[in-house]
Amino acid sequence: MKMPKKGIITVISGFSGAGKGTVINELVKKYGYAVSISATTRQPREGEKEGKDYFFKTKEEFIQMVNNGKFIEYAKYVDNYYGTPKDYVYSQINNGKDVLLEIEMQGAMQVKENFPGVSLVFITPPDIKELKRRLLKRGTETEEVIKKRIARASEECGYMEKYDYIIVNDGLEECVEQVHALIQSLHFTSNNQKELIEGISSNFNLK
Ligand code: 5GP
Repeated sequence: MKMPKKGIITVISGFSGAGKGTVINELVKKYGYAVSISATTRQPREGEKEGKDYFFKTKEEFIQMVNNGKFIEYAKYVDNYYGTPKDYVYSQINNGKDVLLEIEMQGAMQVKENFPGVSLVFITPPDIKELKRRLLKRGTETEEVIKKRIARASEECGYMEKYDYIIVNDGLEECVEQVHALIQSLHFTSNNQKELIEGISSNFNLK
């Protein structure tokens, strides 16, 4: 009997303002990817909804989730905590859905360490001038927070080479197609076909 194919997890990171959120929304709409919904201690932005954008938690609630082993990874980013809850991600991949984790770099490095088979994709704007322009245009953060996010982006530059793939977001449609093609090709890695390998190997033992 053919086993249903498991989905794969892919990490997507990028500087704040790199446009990764828009790229991910398109991947969901166009190709049906599942996106993990994170828990965070950050205050909701205008228009953000509980259970859709994030699960908004107090610091105490977040710490309790950490202590109860509820996260695949978690990290502190510019004064707030963010974490990926396990349950949703595992149920999606078991149902054959590919899942995207939109997380920052410390979390990405934890995933790399704990799940070496998961690929890390980094989305960057073509240059930093463009990044500043996008952050200002978004208009959802104060000037102080924008400054902190740019400072963080500058630190994050040093981590880019730890990612498996770098994709330049110089146009939404092209970037979406590139990320999709990349993830589809990841289904063919031997690491993502362990069950197939085991099945074929066990065939040799049949009499
Ligand atoms: P924002 O406050 O702009 O929604 O997110 C700030 C940063 O936190 C972004 O780089 C985003 O990718 C990252 N982030 C969102 N959810 C998670 C998570 O569950 N874990 C980690 N490590 N980072 C996250």
